[in-house]
Amino acid sequence: MTKPTTDSPPILESRSHPFFTSKEEQRYIALGHEYPDFIYPAHPDAVQEGFAYLFSAGFRPPSGEDFDPDNPPMRRMGIPRRKMIGMIGIFRKIMKGMRQSWEDIEPYFGQLEPTPFEPKPGLWEELNGFIQKKWKDVRVGFTELPQQMIFKNKFTLFRYALIVSQEMKRDKIDKAPDLTAGKEVMRVYGSLGLVVNDIARWLRKQGVRCQSNHPLGGLTNTPTLAGKAGMGWQGRSGLLITPEFGPRVRLAPVFIEHPYFEFTDHRDHDWIEAYCELCQRCERECPGQAINSEKTVAIDNVPGIGALRTCIDRIRCFEFFSKTLGCSVCVKVCPFSEGGDIYERLKAVVQKRQD
Ligand code: SF4
Ligand code: SF4
Repeated sequence: MTKPTTDSPPILESRSHPFFTSKEEQRYIALGHEYPDFIYPAHPDAVQEGFAYLFSAGFRPPSGEDFDPDNPPMRRMGIPRRKMIGMIGIFRKIMKGMRQSWEDIEPYFGQLEPTPFEPKPGLWEELNGFIQKKWKDVRVGFTELPQQMIFKNKFTLFRYALIVSQEMKRDKIDKAPDLTAGKEVMRVYGSLGLVVNDIARWLRKQGVRCQSNHPLGGLTNTPTLAGKAGMGWQGRSGLLITPEFGPRVRLAPVFIEHPYFEFTDHRDHDWIEAYCELCQRCERECPGQAINSEKTVAIDNVPGIGALRTCIDRIRCFEFFSKTLGCSVCVKVCPFSEGGDIYERLKAVVQKRQD
């Protein structure tokens, strides 16, 4: 058993707000403090996760009012309890998945010294076979996780990432911003949380040390990570646009100790950025006016990505997203959400303009 490295200076700060950080996650972060030499921490330039930022001391509300940790401004916006009551079953599933993901990795603490890497030929094919047999709407990519993509004050146990996506149904998303779309968002959050836990358990049975991360227990910036892994490209809406389902997916990672699979990294989908310049539909139709025309740089020099940029005003988005329990107007109006051959048709539009 590994002894805690008590003489090392702490490299983490537990600053996440308890409103958005479960007690299991707080315990995970506390355990990380005991083993600072064995965890994979966020880069010093890393940014705070979206929702946690809104409850942090670093949050600057547009009104300019002072931060009060006992009554943070975003809490006063109020998430509608009446709407939440109709989704109790889904929230139970979400909570179950989140708890499971933290509990499953607890045995690793105390055994975090790196183990020798022994390649496992054929494991990628076996993993994809396992996934396709169980879930027709799940896709995966594999990449190295840059520390800049880990959220501020957080860490992972391992440095490689299997990124998992799951489709949200089009007929439900088409009802946005009605609660029907919000329920679909939450349904897939719940379902994907259990999918990544299942995949992690399957991998452990194959002798792979890994850590699943619930899509609502965010340790990393998944849309950019999935873009790095070649699964699509980040659109103006900040969401990953995939060739098959457009932005109608949710994402969650499984962190893995060794590079058992070939990286799926490529930039074949980066033309999507040029299409966004022509389209701008999500920006026009966003009910929260949360999508800016210009991108701001959040972090520079991210390995495999370049600059991490965004058009999203997360304060404005969060306000509307929480009131509707999932909003999703930007997903509904995105032409890529149509699926089918739309990816190829829009690519041809961009190519024609560039010729
Ligand atoms: S989720 Fe809604 S509020 Fe947020 S960016 Fe999309 S359309 Fe705008
Ligand atoms: S709606 Fe248009 S601008 Fe927005 S992400 Fe989709 S393609 Fe890009």
